[in-house]
Amino acid sequence: MAIATVNPATGETVKVFEPLTAEQLDAKIELAQRRFEQYRHSTFEQRASWLAAAAQILVDEKERFGKIITLEMGKPLASAVAEVEKSAWVCRYYAETAAAALANHPIETDASRSFVCYQPLGVILAVMPWNFPFWQVFRFAAPALMAGNVGLLKHASNVPQSALAIEDVLARAGFPTGAFQTLLIGAAQVEQVIHDPRVKGAALTGSEPAGASLASAAGNQIKKTVLELGGSDPFVVLESADLEAAVATAVTARMISNGQSCIAAKRFIIQDSIAEAFTEQLLHRYAALKLGDPMLPDTEIGPLATPGILQELDEQVQAAIASGGKLLIGGNLEKLDPSLQQGSFYPPTILADLPPDSPARQQEFFGPVALLFRVPDLEAAITLANETSFGLGASAWTQIPEEVERLILGIEAGSVFVNGMVKSDPRLPFGGIKRSGYGRELGTEGIREFVNVKTIWVK
Ligand code: NAP
Repeated sequence: MAIATVNPATGETVKVFEPLTAEQLDAKIELAQRRFEQYRHSTFEQRASWLAAAAQILVDEKERFGKIITLEMGKPLASAVAEVEKSAWVCRYYAETAAAALANHPIETDASRSFVCYQPLGVILAVMPWNFPFWQVFRFAAPALMAGNVGLLKHASNVPQSALAIEDVLARAGFPTGAFQTLLIGAAQVEQVIHDPRVKGAALTGSEPAGASLASAAGNQIKKTVLELGGSDPFVVLESADLEAAVATAVTARMISNGQSCIAAKRFIIQDSIAEAFTEQLLHRYAALKLGDPMLPDTEIGPLATPGILQELDEQVQAAIASGGKLLIGGNLEKLDPSLQQGSFYPPTILADLPPDSPARQQEFFGPVALLFRVPDLEAAITLANETSFGLGASAWTQIPEEVERLILGIEAGSVFVNGMVKSDPRLPFGGIKRSGYGRELGTEGIREFVNVKTIWVK
């Protein structure tokens, strides 16, 4: 895959970038390693002031950065600007909390003094996806830099301008040269980087195959990894739920980033008694969604990020229909407005009643496609919610306290949000179980992933 900005709304190739040569790549890793030896001795106060400056640059230039995001991956401009603001938030959050999260932690033992301290590991590689080109990177970079690590970013090949803009923000904020570098390299070069003895760990957010490939290479070298992979989050609505709020949130939760979010609600599991009303309201809202140029303020859904993603999603939808699924709306590229045919647009689609043996029930649909299921009761909802090999997030709607407790306990996922949509928040740990990955980003847990949790015992 070429490293290039291709506008997904028009198909136009805007700018192509040359990948780094082997020598250039080596020089960047060497710079990172040398920088780490000094950077690790900087104080929390110093790092926090740089990170706070980065937050300010993000806020000051959010419109410009938002346009880069929208140009490269197609989400509506307002969401792109909001993403930049959220990136500033995670910078401020770690600037303010890192010192406390990584402070020495005394533990009483038979020693005269024993405690745990947290020390940086060194050069950490981040392999990142295009769906939140700024947010995904900053939620890695902010804790990594505050912990005293230095970062190397291998961003998705379709968002090179975002990758370079982020490197520039951190440099302008004052971080020393080499503390955070963008590597314009293809996926095939990642293995070489993780094999390099100067690189001490890696975080990857992306698909299962990419995660498995990076984790095997890192495992081979006994290096720490954090994996944030795919999801097929359930959105459970039970009889007592506030139906109107649930339906409105269902649409937002499915459509975030044009349907391309790991924690988007993807499977809607509705109790029989309210299924008809829920479906009717959902269809009504789906039909009203406005597809179009993501730079325009009234556009709600932009294009998918690449033609390949569009093709894959359409094939999945057609296979799901062939396997017995009922198409309620969308699912037909030919019916799209001719003005959208040049871009990678996909119509908002709802599929219902997939039979138990349909392979689609196990898949992640990375686009504006909702799968609708009906269940008789709470226990059937939990069983269905846990049916896939994923375990990222889950949203559940009920007003009955006993049902809330049962859902919290029963759903296999890295997070359960009750009467609200799954969302990331700098203060809350984020990550999955099962094939959605391991390790955590954000919160105190996130900043403790790439550190040496060192035990000290002094007599
Ligand atoms: P992807 O193809 O896995 O790409 C993600 C990153 O991995 C890109 O930088 C890509 O580089 C790189 N990559 C691809 N194959 C690789 C390999 N074999 N070895 C090393 N690196 C490799 O994922 P995507 O399709 O762009 O993103 C969508 C997926 O990410 C979905 O499954 C989604 O659920 C998941 N995701 C998860 C989270 C989370 O927090 N759990 C958040 C966002 C997205 P190239 O671009 O150069 O191929």
